Amino acid sequence: MQITNIETIEVRIPYTAGSASQTSAWGGKEWQTADALLVKVSTDAGITGWGEAFGYNVIPATRVAINELIAPICIGADAQDIDSLMLDLYRKLHIFGRGGPVIYALSSLDIALWDIAGKASGQPLHQMLAGKSRDQVSAYASLVRYVEPDQVAANVTRACELGFRAIKLHEITVPAVAAARQAAGPDVAIMLDVNCPWTRDEAIDMAKQLQQFDLAWLEEPVWPPEDHTSLAIIRKQGGIPVAAGENAATLQQYRHLFEAGALDIVQPSPAKSGGVSGLRDVFALADEFGVRVVPHSFYEGPGLLSAIHCCAALASDPLVEWRFFDCEARLYGDDFVPVDGKFVVPNGPGLGLDPDQDVIERYQAT
Ligand SMILES: [Mg+2]
Repeated sequence: MQITNIETIEVRIPYTAGSASQTSAWGGKEWQTADALLVKVSTDAGITGWGEAFGYNVIPATRVAINELIAPICIGADAQDIDSLMLDLYRKLHIFGRGGPVIYALSSLDIALWDIAGKASGQPLHQMLAGKSRDQVSAYASLVRYVEPDQVAANVTRACELGFRAIKLHEITVPAVAAARQAAGPDVAIMLDVNCPWTRDEAIDMAKQLQQFDLAWLEEPVWPPEDHTSLAIIRKQGGIPVAAGENAATLQQYRHLFEAGALDIVQPSPAKSGGVSGLRDVFALADEFGVRVVPHSFYEGPGLLSAIHCCAALASDPLVEWRFFDCEARLYGDDFVPVDGKFVVPNGPGLGLDPDQDVIERYQAT
């Protein structure tokens, strides 16, 4: 089965996050829309697969990587020999970067190829990964940064009322975390993602102040993200489990994180770190090192679906990140959302769901 076409589609779906938020905490842009880059791979057998690359401000760069670097190598290649094709692409393109837009682009292709493979064999992705079969996986609500403690509390309450038993904050102050714990009560898991703001000493100091809130993990506490030595020291001295990994991109980088003893929880991202193959390999390596895998999946398209399938098949204690946005429309329809903090694992072939064509047409960026 040969690849005949690769198409990139950007969609921008308006959303709110419950109340005034500080989304400018990431990427320096006050987002009004959830911007996603979808990739549609067609074959001469008439089967099409869908992938997703990390979105937002980086979309134009990733698009060029797909259209001008990757597609010319892929047209005519065998869509079903995923490992060989991906290895060939990684080798040919390594001089253009082992992280960032080129790897986001390769990640989206990998997801689409797994979707095609599943459709061709009639099996859902979780079954192809040959793991445990689960009907449902737990989801956690991943909140934006609200800054104001009363707004943090209001949105934590909203997530609890929707049935989430685990909630992640993106706050960076002690009062904001205190407000979340008070609103959630003692029985809901709270995680804190700070997005790499601190030096090693600042992170240890903050972790000690935050210990009282019984956090399930502290995510990316140190700048720069690849300072694995500091992560290991913060993990030892801060008294809170440490999570990271969405900004690693290759299996070697994950190996370095594990060998440094940097992590309790590793967070590979399907649309940033090698797609389904990337997650499959990180799950296997993490198992050797006794590290729990909870993927980064701040997506609503194939990036999210691949995290759900990989967790359903490969995780002993599955937990999937769910972006806590109120979107004007959803790529898989309004019904594909977590209910009582759980996703139903799609059982159709491949990813199990294709994006809604009407939603794509309505929100496609020109
Ligand atoms: Mg994060």
